[in-house]
Amino acid sequence: MMEGAVQGLGAGSPVKEQENCVFCRIVRGESPAEFLYKGQDVVVFKDIRPEAPVHLLVVPTRHIRSVNDLSGADKEILGEMFLRAKETAQELGIAARGYRLILNVERGGGQIVFHLHMHLLGGW
Ligand code: AMP
Ligand code: ZN
Repeated sequence: MMEGAVQGLGAGSPVKEQENCVFCRIVRGESPAEFLYKGQDVVVFKDIRPEAPVHLLVVPTRHIRSVNDLSGADKEILGEMFLRAKETAQELGIAARGYRLILNVERGGGQIVFHLHMHLLGGW
C-alpha cells in the first residue's frame, strides 16, 4: 500500500505546497542552486534559465505563495528582499547602469513557481 508515502500530502493538506515546492527544496538544500547569498530570511540564487546576462532570484526562505498572500506581518521580509536585491546589484557592479526587479503574480501574471520571488535582471 502507498498510504504511508502520501500521508500528509492529501488534498487541502497545509504541508503539500511546501513539500513539493522547488524553491523550498533549494532553501532546504535538497535541490541544487548557484547561491550568491544565503541569509536566514532571504536567499539569492541564479535563475536556471537566464533571460539576461545577470538573472537572479531573490527568495524568502519562508514559503509564501505569491504577492496575493502577503500581509502586514510580511513588511520586514519585503524590505529585506528589496535591500538584498539592491546590495547584490551593487556587489555585481550592475547597479549604476540599471536593472529590473520583477514580481510575477499568479498564473495570469506569468508566475510558474508558486513561492514568492523577485527576479533581478541586468548586466546588459
Ligand atoms: P516565475 O515565472 O516568476 O514564477 O519565474 C520562475 C523562475 O524560476 C523562472 O525564471 C525559472 O527559470 C526559474 N526556476 C525554475 N526552477 C528553478 C531552479 N531549480 N533553479 C533556479 N531557477 C529556477
Ligand atoms: Zn516554497
